[in-house]
Amino acid sequence: MNNSAPRIGMLGGTFDPVHLGHLRSAVELHETLMLDRLHMIPAQQPPLRDRPQVSAQQRLALLKAGIGDTPGIIADDRELQREGPSYSVDTLIELRAEYGDQARLVMAIGYDAFLRLAQWYQPERIFALAHLVVIARPGYNDPLPAPLAELVEHRAVSNIETLMLTPCGSYTTLALPSLMAISATHIRECLHQGKSVRYLVPAPVEQAIKHHGLYQQQSE
Ligand code: ATP
Repeated sequence: MNNSAPRIGMLGGTFDPVHLGHLRSAVELHETLMLDRLHMIPAQQPPLRDRPQVSAQQRLALLKAGIGDTPGIIADDRELQREGPSYSVDTLIELRAEYGDQARLVMAIGYDAFLRLAQWYQPERIFALAHLVVIARPGYNDPLPAPLAELVEHRAVSNIETLMLTPCGSYTTLALPSLMAISATHIRECLHQGKSVRYLVPAPVEQAIKHHGLYQQQSE
């Protein structure tokens, strides 16, 4: 393995809105995995969610405001530029092409999202393109559904050092130092009810939400 090969992370999500659970996880992922760069990539609105009250461009603007000048972490709008449904596999294909065959490419997801991974589009292809790092999340500890266990069982490695020996294909779980029981759902609920979201989101995100009157309406 070429030890100077770049270490690149991807943290996708709806970021509706971005919060400190996302951002602190991003910083700790960057440090723990010794990443050169972590791409935070907002998704198009998932088809099964509530009707969007906040546009993708507004979610992206909040993400940028939340990241600010955090070293090594970037807001990446590539999925918002693409037409039609946005699959992680397509995003990983693009990142792989940009960083090359030798790069260690890591897709990071929270445990809640991981539990649904077997239902994603072509989940087995993810491992031909990247490693998977699953972040523990407070309150989520359901056992793996059978198809998911089957998908990952031969790929599990016990630590990051082993994972980083190859460009892709392995999976591990990671308990980051700061587990935060913050969800975007809770933040949207607070805002609908006119309650404060201070210390749940970065100050510039709170200010932008207030300034533009975002998330004030109850979802339909
Ligand atoms: P919602 O409550 O609207 O479902 P969310 O807070 O889970 O949103 P997403 O945008 O869906 O946020 O999450 C993006 C990614 O970040 C997912 O992989 C998710 O598991 C992870 N994530 C979200 N919140 C946290 C948190 N508090 N700690 C660690 N990971 C998180």
